[in-house]
Amino acid sequence: MVIANTFQLLNGYPIDYMSDTEINYDVLIVGGGVVGTALLYTLSKYTDIKSIGLIEKYSDFGLVNSASTKNSQTLHFGDIETNYTFEKAKSVKLMSDMVMKYLEKEKLENIDTKLFSKYSKMVLAVGKNQSEELSKRFLSFSKLFPNLKMISRDEIGKIEPRVVEGRDPDQEILALLTEDGYTVDFKRLSHSFVDNAKIEKPDINIQLNTKLLKISKGKDCYIVKTNNGEIKATVVAITAGGHSLMIAKSLGYGMDLSVLSMAGSFYTAPKVLNGKVYTIQVAKLPFAAIHGDPEVHNENITRFGPTAKPIFQLERHNSSTFLEYWKTFGLGLSPIISLFKIIFDKVLFGYIVVNFLYDLPFIGKLLFVRQIRMIVPSIKVSELKYAKGIGGTRPQIVNNTTRKLEMGEAKLAGDKIIFNITPSPGASTCLGNAYSDTSEIIKFLDNRYKFNKEAFEKDLM
Ligand SMILES: Cc1cc2nc3c(=O)[nH]c(=O)nc-3n(C[C@H](O)[C@H](O)[C@H](O)COP(=O)(O)OP(=O)(O)OC[C@H]3O[C@@H](n4cnc5c(N)ncnc54)[C@H](O)[C@@H]3O)c2cc1C
Repeated sequence: MVIANTFQLLNGYPIDYMSDTEINYDVLIVGGGVVGTALLYTLSKYTDIKSIGLIEKYSDFGLVNSASTKNSQTLHFGDIETNYTFEKAKSVKLMSDMVMKYLEKEKLENIDTKLFSKYSKMVLAVGKNQSEELSKRFLSFSKLFPNLKMISRDEIGKIEPRVVEGRDPDQEILALLTEDGYTVDFKRLSHSFVDNAKIEKPDINIQLNTKLLKISKGKDCYIVKTNNGEIKATVVAITAGGHSLMIAKSLGYGMDLSVLSMAGSFYTAPKVLNGKVYTIQVAKLPFAAIHGDPEVHNENITRFGPTAKPIFQLERHNSSTFLEYWKTFGLGLSPIISLFKIIFDKVLFGYIVVNFLYDLPFIGKLLFVRQIRMIVPSIKVSELKYAKGIGGTRPQIVNNTTRKLEMGEAKLAGDKIIFNITPSPGASTCLGNAYSDTSEIIKFLDNRYKFNKEAFEKDLM
């Protein structure tokens, strides 16, 4: 089945694979971020599928958006994300609970691997209107999140002194607080998924430094051309972030969709917050509101962000993905009309312009500090530093039929193939996504194998 002629090892994984021999898998996963590795783990631990492979174009897992330097490191539950409706929060919570259970179990079993830190987490309303809005929200959302508390100025000050220090005493503030502020290193989580998958099924085949160059449909299988030879697989799961849509389009799927690649940058300061403090979300925006929180592995650094500006690359800080972006965006009038319609929306246009400025030297900091002062009124410009090279890009889906920006992740299912396109909260929902993909994959394989859903649900739900 799997024949590797020569390979070197990096952390126990083959980093170079050279073979002209055909490889046949029941399932091939393309992309080794947190979404692909969560699927690898689920297939390995909870199914009896015999041959599973994963290819990743880089030399390690989780180097793109799942890297802790690229995202906001938050396990989103929907409790303090004020842009989530009750229904959205309910479904995100179900999936984030799975990751939380996995993390807590790993903490007990593998104490040396620090996958997460736990801090308090609050969403802060500033002014009368926001406070009224948040109080109303609390009434319904506290049913879903029984640990959520509504706290006033004095209590806020005890937990986060710098949120109150220097604030106009007449300015009304209110917050919803929970202790469940999971800050996660999603790259390490990817590694943990792979390690545990290998324990369950030592013969799964993982090929790093192996890039899907072309995919085509044969008679009974997919033929995946890579820089390291050809792979044949009955079912393919594409978990390649923004690249998933490009690959989907090469097979004729998702032709009415485009991607708006929204880069996010961060500023850092020496510790000014003890936990996570989110601001109230602008309703129309599909990206998390600006927040401040401690770094996952260093509580003495507070990070503020992310900003959001469109870039014409599928990967941040990687100009070689410029052409791939346009292949994903699609040529022709329709995506351009959608783009104009979205960008020139009254709310979004102003937002995008100012977010471009946040990345500029000097002026960026002067402008962004005004946002940060909503959270920490007394912060000085000199305390802030632009976090160079930090922040990834979110592949937000543009629907060229409705000409709207879609909220959250997208999944396309085709003939024995699945494509996952994963802006935020894609890392938080990785196991929930793996659960639904696994159910679909079993059907694709004509139910020849079993998905032990009871065991998955017992462990993680
Ligand atoms: C600024 C920012 C803040 C965010 N904050 C949060 C947050 O707080 N919480 C949250 O849940 N989510 C957050 N997200 C979203 C989250 O980072 C992503 O949803 C998640 O990392 C997606 O995981 P993934 O595995 O799908 O993608 P990735 O981690 O990007 O992995 C995709 C993998 O596919 C590989 N690949 C691509 N093309 C090929 C190919 N042709 N052949 C082989 N391999 C290929 C890539 O190398 C990569 O390793 C944030 C994102 C950004 C940009």
